[in-house]
Amino acid sequence: MKIHKPTTLQEAAGLLAADDGAQCIAGGATLVAMMNSGVVEPSALISLEYITGLNEITKSSDGSVIIGASAKHKTVAAYVDFSEAQNIVGIAADKIAHPPIRNMGTIGGSVVVGDPAADYPTALLAAEATINIVGQDSSRSISAEDFFDGFLSTALEEDELVQSIQIPAGPENAVAVYDKIAKIAGDIAILSVAVVIASSGDSCDYVRIAVGGCGPTPYRVPEAEAKYIDGDLDAAIELLVAASDPMSDVRGSAEYRRKVLPRVLRRALTTAQQMGGRE
Ligand SMILES: Cc1cc2nc3c(=O)[nH]c(=O)nc-3n(C[C@H](O)[C@H](O)[C@H](O)COP(=O)(O)OP(=O)(O)OC[C@H]3O[C@@H](n4cnc5c(N)ncnc54)[C@H](O)[C@@H]3O)c2cc1C
Repeated sequence: MKIHKPTTLQEAAGLLAADDGAQCIAGGATLVAMMNSGVVEPSALISLEYITGLNEITKSSDGSVIIGASAKHKTVAAYVDFSEAQNIVGIAADKIAHPPIRNMGTIGGSVVVGDPAADYPTALLAAEATINIVGQDSSRSISAEDFFDGFLSTALEEDELVQSIQIPAGPENAVAVYDKIAKIAGDIAILSVAVVIASSGDSCDYVRIAVGGCGPTPYRVPEAEAKYIDGDLDAAIELLVAASDPMSDVRGSAEYRRKVLPRVLRRALTTAQQMGGRE
């Protein structure tokens, strides 16, 4: 099989545009497993390894952090310059699988797979992240919420690549909690909850709550976040559970997910409250 080695994203996009069956390969953690099991049979592979800077993480003057698509999970987990709010992404990276996968897999590969139970997608919604996309002659940015547009589906066009993921600084004095339920350590989540809250004085004035593994995409419910800010934890949880649409799979039944979700939401939100000094 032909393996292309482009040195720019535009060149990689051109190769994708020229061959319908070609696929990019980043860490290969997911793609090689899919090729081994015959789920996909690419006509050619486009290695992203030779694109300069694609694995870098940089911090902008406005405090936002830009994570290159080829940054490995272990690099994101070890990054020390996240703000407290951005740290939701670092915490999630550290919960992905186990060290061999964290040494291989990349954030770009993870978001492109679009698994609603994967760790980054849920964390990226809570972090209000933006996905930066490049085509042969184009570039665009899209919110993480709009990027994940269906089960194992994203808004990425066939001849586009993910260049980076941009995480805004978020509020000061934030607290981030990522709660993942999995069958065994190192497995994909049955479900997960990502919470970022910030308080001024005794009152919470900022909250983002994202749920993963309980629907075709990770999701937020702004009305639930408003209820939480009003101090109505029960109503917030009720709205988030009402918005879930879990399916049954090898990791757990839809019924199990519906039962566990309110408990995990309560635990994550209570932990965030306690960490932020609110009881
Ligand atoms: C045993 C095992 C356990 C795992 N456990 C977890 C877990 O607990 N939590 C979790 O979140 N994930 C888990 N994963 C998935 C893991 O995080 C993968 O690393 C990740 O989903 C894919 O990243 P990759 O760099 O290996 O992508 P690849 O396998 O190289 O590519 C995956 C797909 O993304 C495309 N792609 C890659 N980069 C780009 C780009 N920049 N632009 C456009 N397309 C691109 C490829 O063409 C391909 O279609 C697990 C995987 C395995 C094998």
